[in-house]
Amino acid sequence: MAALDAFADRLLRHEPLAKYTAARLGGPADLLYRARESLEELAAVVRAAWTDGVPVRVLGGGANVLVSDDGVPGLVVINHVSHIDIGEDCSVTAASGTSLTILARRCAAAGLTGFEWAISVPGTVGGAVVNNAGAHGGDMAASVRQVLVLEPDSDQPRTMSPADLAYGYRTSSLKARIDRRFLVLSARLQFERGDPEAIASRMEANIAHRKRTQPQGASLGSIFKNPPGDFAGRLIEAAGLKGYQIGGAQVSPVHANFFINRRSATAADYFQLIEHVRAVVLRETGVELELEIETLGQWS
Ligand SMILES: Cc1cc2nc3c(=O)[nH]c(=O)nc-3n(C[C@H](O)[C@H](O)[C@H](O)COP(=O)(O)OP(=O)(O)OC[C@H]3O[C@@H](n4cnc5c(N)ncnc54)[C@H](O)[C@@H]3O)c2cc1C
Repeated sequence: MAALDAFADRLLRHEPLAKYTAARLGGPADLLYRARESLEELAAVVRAAWTDGVPVRVLGGGANVLVSDDGVPGLVVINHVSHIDIGEDCSVTAASGTSLTILARRCAAAGLTGFEWAISVPGTVGGAVVNNAGAHGGDMAASVRQVLVLEPDSDQPRTMSPADLAYGYRTSSLKARIDRRFLVLSARLQFERGDPEAIASRMEANIAHRKRTQPQGASLGSIFKNPPGDFAGRLIEAAGLKGYQIGGAQVSPVHANFFINRRSATAADYFQLIEHVRAVVLRETGVELELEIETLGQWS
């Protein structure tokens, strides 16, 4: 380690990741850094890890990742760098650590329509750009115009267009990359001017829908993607698995595609529950469910 020495006083060692993930699960990162101040700081620490040959993973809200009990080797950077610029032309540029809910509220306050779906979706712009997050009929793909991405082989960030991002249902060219050697710095989104009362009422309806249909408690939201023409939650329920529990991890009795950490769960419980549900649904319905979440670290 040499370049990372510059950050030594703010690097946490063997830091448990459970408190940085929405499921409240996961063993330690060898090294953890919380970037708060600026995109320059975020870029510098990631670049330092690349220079030193240390594996690095950037997380926003940890709302779409299941981290192994054995933790994650190398450096994990928690991205809290938040910044929003709203242009006269209804474009919005947001730093990758900006919370989706805060961004949705800022857009609404500025009278912009197109981001109401993101209210109450946990996580950050960075994670949403990677995953093509979406809800209530909207998604990132509909409004992303360009994304600034840093990669190890260039000093300058690369500008990715929607075509480069190759968005699909909860996926992108970034999510598909196995090397993971990229850092999303910011995204420019395009919205339209709308009626502030209508925007507010759509957001309230979205919040109410979530409260009515989704469980409380630590989870990762939808575990599996919906297969074409069907719903993963319906298939899991039809397979008789609503409420099914392994260790401290339970298929939610409220929404079967949400798995709840009932406080005492380990990531291994959660992972076994995923495997069990996938196998039973395949046996009972013939449908092979595909993960929407990502797994991080080593899994035996
Ligand atoms: C209760 C609940 C409800 C949810 N509802 C929805 C929903 O309605 N719709 C939906 O789409 N999702 C939903 N999710 C999942 C989650 O909110 C989204 O996937 C969100 O976009 C994840 O953002 P994040 O910042 O937490 O990403 P993380 O989980 O931190 O990261 C996800 C991936 O992106 C990568 N990444 C994150 N930031 C960067 C960056 N700056 N540079 C490079 N890579 C990066 C990570 O390495 C990882 O591979 C829900 C989750 C929960 C817990």
